[in-house]
Amino acid sequence: MARKIGSRYTAHQILGRGSAGTVWLGDGPEGPVAIKLLREDLAADQDLVERFVQERSALLHLDHPRVVGVRDLVVDGNELALVMDLVRGTDLRTRLERDRRLAPEAAVAIAADVADGLAAAHAAGLVHRDVKPENVLLDALSLEGPGGAPPALLTDFGVAKLIDSPSRTRATSIIGTPDYLAPEIVEGLPPRAAVDIYALATVLYELMAGFTPFGGGHPGAVLRRHVTESVAPLPGIPDELWQLVHQCLAKAPASRLRAVELATRLRELLPSLEGLPPLDIDEHVEDGYEHDEADEESGEGAASGPVTGAAQAAAGGGAVPLVHSRVGPDANRDTHTSMRVPAADELAGGAHGTARAPRPVGEARAGSAKHHRVAERRRRLKIGVVAALVAAALAVGGWLATSQDETGSLPAPAAGYSGG
Ligand code: ADP
Ligand code: MG
Repeated sequence: MARKIGSRYTAHQILGRGSAGTVWLGDGPEGPVAIKLLREDLAADQDLVERFVQERSALLHLDHPRVVGVRDLVVDGNELALVMDLVRGTDLRTRLERDRRLAPEAAVAIAADVADGLAAAHAAGLVHRDVKPENVLLDALSLEGPGGAPPALLTDFGVAKLIDSPSRTRATSIIGTPDYLAPEIVEGLPPRAAVDIYALATVLYELMAGFTPFGGGHPGAVLRRHVTESVAPLPGIPDELWQLVHQCLAKAPASRLRAVELATRLRELLPSLEGLPPLDIDEHVEDGYEHDEADEESGEGAASGPVTGAAQAAAGGGAVPLVHSRVGPDANRDTHTSMRVPAADELAGGAHGTARAPRPVGEARAGSAKHHRVAERRRRLKIGVVAALVAAALAVGGWLATSQDETGSLPAPAAGYSGG
């Protein structure tokens, strides 16, 4: 079922589907290529086509071994296609679904590749805006790198920006995938290079943990966590590596490393990570939890009434649009989510928000629905247990203090002592 794309390309077979369109294996004058045919409604948008063409030279000139090269942009009647270098392999999401967690060395090698690609893009003035495992392709034909990781290439440059046009989104909407959105975007600031660093740090965390630091539950809750929650070290993560991840997840964009620096620091760490097994993060999956947790989630988020498919999907930590868009067959792996910017009180967990205690380490939400729910239940159980222990300790302490006061066996602290 070959089809002509413009005068120079032929598409042969579908390689994959994304939210922006369908990717085909094709042929061009210089051999095999990947052709992304944009969704009809995107291609029919005059404004978007115009900007697509304007972006053409920036995209075409971003030539770097860690970036999937865009070779051509074809506007043909009402078809709009991006002709790209063909990468033979899978995307990082597929790899993560297979392995659940990567060893730190492989995760860092992949993140360093992506950081290299970002460094080149940022130097050219391009911000990616949609860094996530779906947009990282793993080249299965080249030699494996540290930790057996295949070379990684970043794809989909400029696509987020193109789709995020004033005509397509209202000023109060956010474009992106909730799990990877930097807090400044949630707060309505324009996305600069540092948003890509935040997203990459989220990906690196996810590669090692099996879940993102702030994902899970209602998209509004995810957005709020980016702004208000802090992230604690993953159990067993080498300290220096954690420092890097932590710094790049900083709420303040200026506190994050720049891409070049991040790539260098990650590569410097590689030798010390050699042979380390994947982090041992305890995530038992028990089917019995699923129903309960779905019920809990429906009570926690903005959703009320029976748990709908969307609410269940929302509980899974995937990219779930608040505003449903016309999406393709793999809507659960949506690239561009249109969301309302949450109000200040929602961000603060106030009136319409959900007040939650800060989440302890390692109890974060999993990428998958089931894992998320289990992790969430475990988190709550833990908070409950900790709270009970604290209450018990306070009670015992209070009782001891009272009895000591009565017996006078312990001296009171010296008056005026302030501890320096
Ligand atoms: P979208 O941006 O529309 O979500 P993607 O760029 O993520 O679409 O592409 C969807 C799928 O197509 C990818 O997961 C991958 O399997 C395949 N694909 C995309 N680009 C390429 C490429 N350059 N070479 C090979 N396969 C690709
Ligand atoms: Mg994509």
